[in-house]
Amino acid sequence: MTIPRPLIAGNWKMNGSLAALEEARTLAAALSGKSVRVAICPPSTLVGPMRQALLNSQVLIGGQDCHPEVAGPFTGDISAEMLAEAGAVMVILGHSERRAAYGETDDRVAAKVGAALRGGLEPIVCVGETLDQRKAGDALSVVTAQIRGSLPATLAGRVFSVAYEPIWAIGTGLTPTLSEIEEMHLAIRATLGDVFGTDGSSPLILYGGSVKPSNAAEILHAAEVGGALVGGASLKATDFLGIIEAV
Ligand code: PEP
Repeated sequence: MTIPRPLIAGNWKMNGSLAALEEARTLAAALSGKSVRVAICPPSTLVGPMRQALLNSQVLIGGQDCHPEVAGPFTGDISAEMLAEAGAVMVILGHSERRAAYGETDDRVAAKVGAALRGGLEPIVCVGETLDQRKAGDALSVVTAQIRGSLPATLAGRVFSVAYEPIWAIGTGLTPTLSEIEEMHLAIRATLGDVFGTDGSSPLILYGGSVKPSNAAEILHAAEVGGALVGGASLKATDFLGIIEAV
């Protein structure tokens, strides 16, 4: 199994509207002919319209979460199958904002990862430590435990990514040093090897947390960085392109 790298994925979070599809169109036009793999994960309401807006473009569309079940009495939720039908091909799972705001545990994230596979979506599984955990010297143990708890065995041999997103770097403008990023990505790779054996060498390990055009090149070229998960800077085509061009 070869997973094309890098992947640059944009997480629009709860931002965007039909008017914002113009940013996606601008991005798609500028990417034409470039071989980099790019995704946008808009709010669920925009997945279908974005598919229409980006027909025949190379920009992939993803969801930001999915429920473990296919359907049922889960008010406000959306299933992997629904996202796929609307045009998504991947889904972000276990983002720290969901872990914090909705109490998502590793077990719950693992169940969602299983659902994504069932629905034909490529999971991007987020992990990351708080600032207190980093200051206490626990970052590596926290993140490797999240990896072990959030990635079900059914991922073996499947296409997926892990996004290392230090919580204190998300939306703050702060980033870890390059050596901290490399240390963590190497530890994640080693854990993937422990869990999945030889299959553990294939998944991409994305970095996320205040990636912008000015820091993208050095981050994207660090050891074991297979791409980026980008929040704020993915909302404007020019900023997102600045990151993609740093590949
Ligand atoms: C994110 O929320 O996944 C993220 C990386 O956000 P930002 O790039 O804005 O820090």
